[in-house]
Amino acid sequence: MAFATAEEYKDMAGNFIHDIIDEDLATGKHKEIVTRFPPEPNGYLHIGHAKSLCLNFGTALKYGGRCNLRYDDTNPTKEDIEFVKSIEADVNWLGFQWDEKLWASDYFDTMYEAAVELIKQGKAFVCELTPDQIREYRGTLKEPGKESPYRNRPVEENLELFEKMRAGEFADGEVCLRAKIDMASPNINMRDPVIYRVVHAPHHNTGDKWCIYPMYDFAHPIEDAIEGITHSICTLEFEDHRPLYDWVVREVGWWPNPPRQIEFAPLNVTTMLMSKRFIRRLVEEGKVEGWDDPRLCTLAAVRRRGYTPEAIRKFCNDIGVSKADSTIDIAQLEQCVREDLQLKVPAINVVKNPIKVIIDNYPEDKIEMCTVENNSKVPEMGTREIPFGRELWVDGDDFMEVPVKKYFRLFPGNEVRFKGAYFITCNSVEKDADGNIIALHCTYDPETHSGSGFEGRKVKGTIHFVEASTAVKIRIREYGYLMKEVEEMNEETGKMETKLEFDPESLHETWGYAEPSAADVKPGERFQFFRKGYYIADSELTTDEEKVFNSIVGLKSSWK
Ligand code: ATP
Ligand code: MG
Repeated sequence: MAFATAEEYKDMAGNFIHDIIDEDLATGKHKEIVTRFPPEPNGYLHIGHAKSLCLNFGTALKYGGRCNLRYDDTNPTKEDIEFVKSIEADVNWLGFQWDEKLWASDYFDTMYEAAVELIKQGKAFVCELTPDQIREYRGTLKEPGKESPYRNRPVEENLELFEKMRAGEFADGEVCLRAKIDMASPNINMRDPVIYRVVHAPHHNTGDKWCIYPMYDFAHPIEDAIEGITHSICTLEFEDHRPLYDWVVREVGWWPNPPRQIEFAPLNVTTMLMSKRFIRRLVEEGKVEGWDDPRLCTLAAVRRRGYTPEAIRKFCNDIGVSKADSTIDIAQLEQCVREDLQLKVPAINVVKNPIKVIIDNYPEDKIEMCTVENNSKVPEMGTREIPFGRELWVDGDDFMEVPVKKYFRLFPGNEVRFKGAYFITCNSVEKDADGNIIALHCTYDPETHSGSGFEGRKVKGTIHFVEASTAVKIRIREYGYLMKEVEEMNEETGKMETKLEFDPESLHETWGYAEPSAADVKPGERFQFFRKGYYIADSELTTDEEKVFNSIVGLKSSWK
């Protein structure tokens, strides 16, 4: 596993968060920068999380600080330990190593004490309104809320009731603990928010010890404060929660230099639905093969698809960090993958929709080896030998019986270069009774062997081939976008809107012939299918007997 280095992040593009950090270091507010990545273990990480990972871990690397992996496991009914393993594998795969691995649930005792502290200060109360009533009393953006009739209970009574909550004397939803802040606040989050609720559910870490669990807004600032997080970076939807975050650390009062929450715009990418809940539904409905279906935007999926961690980190760095919501064109991500693979992976000859070529003037039993480059952009990657013989396969796209304008590949009467071998002329097309092509009859010019320095004449087209007797049949999976963009009229506004719609035809399975080395390919190995695109041997479906490849990305960028 190659981890991202401080070197990589030292020159990381700055952003408004780094400006804040620079100032905090300059004023001496902090000596060391500490960040955290706080996933809830309720699903697999996706490309959106990659942005948060790169920002939190990258910032720690840039400033020589620390970054913790902390599970936000305060929601026992939704979380599953299965996801913990996947999260750790994904964080490591992306190239990051946490300083400490921590659990919010390890702090349940401290959180409970903090709640008691607030009660003692008269800043929290046990409320017996039902969840519906609480919602009703909360008011709206335009109207202030109404105070709960339980708001002014004496401290002693609150302490007693909270203890009873903890002891399991109430049913789920019967009572809760609320912070006493301001029911008239323009910020609804400050209208006496619930900070503890009753949930009779076992917890993966604490078992049956607790039947009350802290709410996110109460728990998160305490988790950050306990760990000495200096900058608690989160997505924009928490901006309105920041006053509550600050209120909690201030009113509990145990931390002299509490963390600061800073929000940034979440990553959106065209064609990608970045939501664990949504992805879970696709998985549960069986619309995809699992959390790592190569069409999904989970990190497990893009890994299986063949994306590299370096490309994703580069992408996250390129798009920058800001407060303004935006959607990034998926083509920009694909371009990062393409640019990374261009310099890393070797080529292999593969033909799809194969057409047989017979070189009529080539000896029947002869096979000769031709030398071809592994990567024309990186000569140090060397060369390999591929067989050439009388019977070959060429790609269906490389022949047209009636060529269109500017078509320089094979057609009757035309001469092209077979990369690494000879100039070949197509003379005639042999067909069966139904008109299907059986073979293209061709001749080769022995003087034109690649590397011979032949300068007699030039040809405009160069194509590749696979020798027929040694060809390896492979399975190929081509992918469209799982979610396709459709334009739809919004009935209310009368405006056209772009919506994402599940495309059941986003997986297309086909097959092809590959050069003999394909027989030895191992799961996870990447190649350029020469002149076609980048492919990876699927990690789950590839066996010793059968090689199954996923298309990673095409050769050409559509990104403007
Ligand atoms: P989802 O909305 O997909 O369910 P989440 O926000 O609930 O994701 P968490 O496990 O709570 O998932 O997220 C961990 C961290 O990742 C949080 O700090 C969250 O702000 C951040 N994050 C989640 N989605 C994105 C995104 N699209 N872009 C950037 N950061 C994100
Ligand atoms: Mg969340």
